[in-house]
Amino acid sequence: MENITAKIVRKSLNALANDETFLPTLQEQDREKAFTSLVSILSTPNHVYKSYLRVALENGSVVRIPSFRVQHNNILGPYKGGIRFHESVDEDETVALASLMTLKSALHGVPFGGSKGGVVLDPRSYSVKERHLICKKYVQYFSQVIGPSKDIPAPDVGTSEREMDWMMGEFKSINPGREYLNSFTGKSVENGGSLGRREATGKGVYYTFRNLLFDFPETNIDLVQKSDNPFAESILTLRDKTLTLAIQGFGNVGSVAALEAYQCSHLNNKVVAVSDRNVTLYNADGLDIPGLIKFTSSNHGDLPVDKDQLTTANVRADIMEREAVLSLDVDVLFLAALGNQVRQDNVEDVQARVIVEGANDPVTGEADDYLSEKGTIIIPDILANAGGVIVSYFEWIQGKETQFYTEDVVFDRLYEKMKSTYDKILPKFYADTYALRQTCYMHSVMKLSIVLYRQGKLY
Ligand code: NAD
Repeated sequence: MENITAKIVRKSLNALANDETFLPTLQEQDREKAFTSLVSILSTPNHVYKSYLRVALENGSVVRIPSFRVQHNNILGPYKGGIRFHESVDEDETVALASLMTLKSALHGVPFGGSKGGVVLDPRSYSVKERHLICKKYVQYFSQVIGPSKDIPAPDVGTSEREMDWMMGEFKSINPGREYLNSFTGKSVENGGSLGRREATGKGVYYTFRNLLFDFPETNIDLVQKSDNPFAESILTLRDKTLTLAIQGFGNVGSVAALEAYQCSHLNNKVVAVSDRNVTLYNADGLDIPGLIKFTSSNHGDLPVDKDQLTTANVRADIMEREAVLSLDVDVLFLAALGNQVRQDNVEDVQARVIVEGANDPVTGEADDYLSEKGTIIIPDILANAGGVIVSYFEWIQGKETQFYTEDVVFDRLYEKMKSTYDKILPKFYADTYALRQTCYMHSVMKLSIVLYRQGKLY
């Protein structure tokens, strides 16, 4: 299976090769050579580091845990990417996620490159003391390649502000006298983190959905109505009705996106289903999202799994299987759990007319082709879930300057930055016939290619 990112980067370069406005100073042979360089640079990472973290457990045994740091590209700035703690982490996945980070920052004009880290473990199988040690070891083993102007990690699945606080503490101990506040983002506010970072991705995901379906068409109705883009008509019909929403994943991203939808009452969106690693909860009249958030915060992040727990949470819902969320008859499906959730073997069951990618890479290449042909609107990860990296950038600046923003300033700047991306991308989307993912990738690839060319990297 070709990875969706590599496939679309290749498609984008093919499309751009025939565009005379793209690198117009390059002629014939030079142009061909430059494109060969571009394909190899963008489809392979600059560095793949792998280590086995040697950790002494509390029961006296010693384990060696595989871990990765992949640096994909840093032409636009220092490498930037989260660290995932999950049993399914592997090298290929980490490479794919690092390349997505490069494309995401390029799309939103964030001056970072792309990287990703991963540790192959189920964090729930380790004690707090052991997890602390694993975090310290990760920083020790990769200390030569990370740092505020080299590669800045952040949380991802299985890690949170607590792990970033520990890691920054270790970075500071290893590098006395060096700047450290901006060596990690996603830290706690008390420890130099940014207000609003925790909510940034989920808020950005919902804002992107709202902008595509409501705000942009409202202010650009002529452009949308006259567009030949095959998805334009669906967007116009959907914006006129009350939409039902289902959300896969109820962690940092999913729960915040759900709460935004719940609170955005003037749009009349109704969250009828949410799911997590154990269950799907469904209520056709709409779920009590604040009630569920309150319950998960005192239940290790997990949703209620039976009637007793629903009674404790004081929430009315039907309990369904974990995977049921993907095939419900809803208008919009938010994917905010893990990668590869919609695949060849389940894509035909997906009924939603809009998919919003809060997670990275949640739809495989084959499933993406199938859904796009069917007319399903997919709001891609690199457009929708960039709130995290944008506010991480703000956190990095705040750490550098040791001047901190209020929460209102953070959210205003976040929305301003995301809106400036939509204002560039959506007119292109409506002026052409590509799916939104392809439009976004072409924009990122174009941006990266021009800077690579200007810095003399294409030969
Ligand atoms: P998280 O660990 O806080 O939450 C993950 C959620 O998914 C949990 O509710 C968990 O129970 C659920 N889940 C796990 N396995 C599942 C399965 N098989 N089926 C259904 N649900 C399952 O993680 P998060 O920070 O919310 O990240 C979610 C996704 O968003 C990840 O793909 C991550 O890479 C991506 N993302 C996160 C951020 C961020 O700032 N947190 C930024 C960009 C992208």
